[in-house]
Amino acid sequence: MQYLHCAEDNFFSDNRFFMRRTSIDVLHPVWAAIDCSAIRHNFHLIRSHVEKSVKIMAVIKADAYGHGATPVARLLAREGADAFGVARLCEAQQLRKDGILQPILIFGYTPPGNASILAADDIIQTVHSLEYAKALHCAAQAAGCRIRIHIKIDTGMGRLGFLAKGNGGKVLLAEVLQLLASCNTLLIEGIFTHFASSDAAVLDNAHRQLKLFKATLDDSGLISLPDGLCVHAANSAATMVMPEAHFDMVRPGIVLYGLHPSTEMKTSAFDLRPAMSIKARIASVKHVPKGFSVSYGHSYVTTKETVIAAIPIGYADGYPRLLSSRGSMLVHGIRANVIGRVCMDQVMLDVGHIPDVHESDEVVILGQQGENEITADELGQATDTINYEVVSRILARVPREYVE
Ligand SMILES: *Cc1c(COP(=O)(O)O)cnc(C)c1O
Repeated sequence: MQYLHCAEDNFFSDNRFFMRRTSIDVLHPVWAAIDCSAIRHNFHLIRSHVEKSVKIMAVIKADAYGHGATPVARLLAREGADAFGVARLCEAQQLRKDGILQPILIFGYTPPGNASILAADDIIQTVHSLEYAKALHCAAQAAGCRIRIHIKIDTGMGRLGFLAKGNGGKVLLAEVLQLLASCNTLLIEGIFTHFASSDAAVLDNAHRQLKLFKATLDDSGLISLPDGLCVHAANSAATMVMPEAHFDMVRPGIVLYGLHPSTEMKTSAFDLRPAMSIKARIASVKHVPKGFSVSYGHSYVTTKETVIAAIPIGYADGYPRLLSSRGSMLVHGIRANVIGRVCMDQVMLDVGHIPDVHESDEVVILGQQGENEITADELGQATDTINYEVVSRILARVPREYVE
């Protein structure tokens, strides 16, 4: 394995990266290996799937779903990502600080009082209501700045956005545009919506949303849409299976990291490659007798003589306590069960059936080892959640190592 860190041009020479991974020489007890070539591969699957004229806004919110926002942004900028999408102002600010020059859109709510920061960092803000538009306009006017915005239409997600006609709303886009046009501080550059179920087996609801979105665009009536307005709607799932929803730009997130948007979509023809593996080194190996109790609460007691290994990952790394006596990891390519409660920083495995286990041997918590694999989907199912949460809940103290 070669560390990208050694690449010709100090690709990762930003402070944030080194805060996470102090030095190439440090051996970490637990780490997340991020496969850069997998992310590149996934990006190009999308790139070749959508029309050339369609832009790609790579969604890198939540620290690129746990994969590291700045390294992923740099990598994807080189591959030709046209823009980046984040959820919060602090995420956008970090990217600017780290030298990312592409357009950045904040999908979420930014308190209007931050108008001057948005302008200074040239960040695009989503405007989801008239009240918000007015507040942002006032703040921008007071600060003497102009803000680039995208208008969000709620066609059925029920989250942020002007309610589309047909989704309980009555505001015509024409009225919104007219009002915004009178606010000379807000530059309308885009308009978008978000699907609630484009990853479902049946796409009826997604098509209903698409229809409402198109009707909303048509409702601009006599007011022509601003020149060069960027229209977008598609998340990963819609990018994959709803070409009619691509418009001017797509916003893939989860697929970039090699994960399917839902189990229903795993049958898709996309050859995605998961980018994240989580690995640790065994901290301790102990031969114990029958009747030996393991971890907090003595909830687990061995039923026979066996060998237990302590693994340096716990719930404060993002390994859920729900996996107490339920999870499993790979040791020498063989599954070993989690026994007893998951602690804050450690967890124990029964490795009695695996020959020759030693301290410092590599354990795979997520990913492949030998013939076996633990997928984010599996970990999600085991903890009643989705692969999105599995990768994005890995906490910052788990260093990310970028490998080719
Ligand atoms: C998170 C998000 C996306 C990306 O969704 P995926 O399912 O990960 O592709 C796109 N658009 C918006 C508005 C989002 O919040």
